Amino acid sequence: MPGIDAERLLSDLDTLRTIGAQGRGVVRPAFSAKDMEARRWLAEKFADAGLEATIDGVGNVYGRSRKAGKALLVGSHSDTQPTGGWLDGALGVVYALEVVRALGEDPATARLAVDAISFQDEESRFLGCLGSRSFVGTLSPEQEAGAVDSEGTTLAEALERAGLAGRPRLRADPSRQAGFLEAHIEQGPHLEDEAKQIGVVTTIVGLRNLRIVFRGQQNHAGTTMMARRRDAAAALFDFAAAVNREFPRVAAARSVWTMGRVRVVPNAPSIVPGYVELDLQFRDADEAVLDRLEALAARLVVEANARGTVAVTLERSRAPIAATRMNEVLRKHLAIAAQRHAPERWVEMPSGAFHDAGVVSARLPAAMLFIPSVGGISHDFAEDSRREDIVLGCRVLADAAASILGSDPKLSTGV
Ligand SMILES: [Zn+2]
Repeated sequence: MPGIDAERLLSDLDTLRTIGAQGRGVVRPAFSAKDMEARRWLAEKFADAGLEATIDGVGNVYGRSRKAGKALLVGSHSDTQPTGGWLDGALGVVYALEVVRALGEDPATARLAVDAISFQDEESRFLGCLGSRSFVGTLSPEQEAGAVDSEGTTLAEALERAGLAGRPRLRADPSRQAGFLEAHIEQGPHLEDEAKQIGVVTTIVGLRNLRIVFRGQQNHAGTTMMARRRDAAAALFDFAAAVNREFPRVAAARSVWTMGRVRVVPNAPSIVPGYVELDLQFRDADEAVLDRLEALAARLVVEANARGTVAVTLERSRAPIAATRMNEVLRKHLAIAAQRHAPERWVEMPSGAFHDAGVVSARLPAAMLFIPSVGGISHDFAEDSRREDIVLGCRVLADAAASILGSDPKLSTGV
């Protein structure tokens, strides 16, 4: 069993935290000067650990093992939200570094090949999971050409400024990489609430996003009597209340739904609104549950239309994201390692957030491990995890990596 160096692990995480630090948080959006500084720091650390380190043409930092045989790829991302926490992504990247060192230092595991990676722009400055999409070959030239950040900077400009334009891009190689392990903070409250220290991810949830449009008649808010109104916003409020009343009847325990975007036209206090758009998004690990929720939303639209005053339409406003199951074999290695290091203090659970592992699973067997987030808080400066949980998570990951690579190679391909 490889032994990790807890002090070295925590000290590297603390150092990475200083790059872009603001108060307790970190500001290191993809391709910013601080992000690139962190990526160069990581590349140096990978090289110090004996890996062949490169930063590719989209900013992925890759540390390639010089050892023979199939390699296990381990990592996450090191970019952050515009106002992010210190562990989201960084944890999994520094774990990868420590797993490489720990396995390399133990004579029983020194022959095993571990590649480390920090993917670029997981947090969607330009395009969510940009780096992992590029890595698995699902980033289309059209997507890339249309990628612009909130300030109007194009991806091409950002690549140019970061000195990455024209550099070769790395691609996943299933003939070399046996699989991908990503460790991450949970970013939710379940582990803490259940007093568990490790989560082994079963599925990364799927997402559907519907746009419901209400068309009524714009009119004067003083002279139009209530009975004559065709108020698009009133229809929206009824619909939203019906969603919150009816969805729990068909939802699963961890289904979530959000009405996070509304556009009211003309959005003025003295005008009866004639046009309203609502985005209804829902997520679950089970496609059948997503189907039920979507069917229910469609039924509520039919009912809203039946009232006759406002015309209501529904469409999918973005391509659905399918729920992604994690590889069973890799999961089993994580579960065995979790049980060894945290007996009865680990649990299998779905991930409600998206991760690079979901993208990578299209090309390589992939699995994920979670550690608890204090108070379930993430994407915020207050994001934190207990140091003992950070150390334990890395022990589990190192142990699982060694057992995956040390076992029959057929195991790691999920055959
Ligand atoms: Zn993340």
